[in-house]
Amino acid sequence: MSRCEFTDLDTAACAHCRPPPAEHAPELTTAARWFHAVYPGACADCGSPFTAGTPIRMQTPAGWIADCCDTPTW
Ligand SMILES: [Zn+2]
Ligand SMILES: [Zn+2]
Repeated sequence: MSRCEFTDLDTAACAHCRPPPAEHAPELTTAARWFHAVYPGACADCGSPFTAGTPIRMQTPAGWIADCCDTPTW
């Protein structure tokens, strides 16, 4: 086992060495959150234009994906 250089605790027991506990189990997804488009734009996947208010989310590296090509998860 290794010891924390700051607290001298086992790193497995050291709060400093571990991320803070989540209040709720976080969704283990790397996808960005959905939200409503503030400005009109075009879906990076299919090229369809979307209007302000359309659910969109950022996908890396494609760009903004609208609800035409993905299903909002809210
Ligand atoms: Zn530590
Ligand atoms: Zn699309």
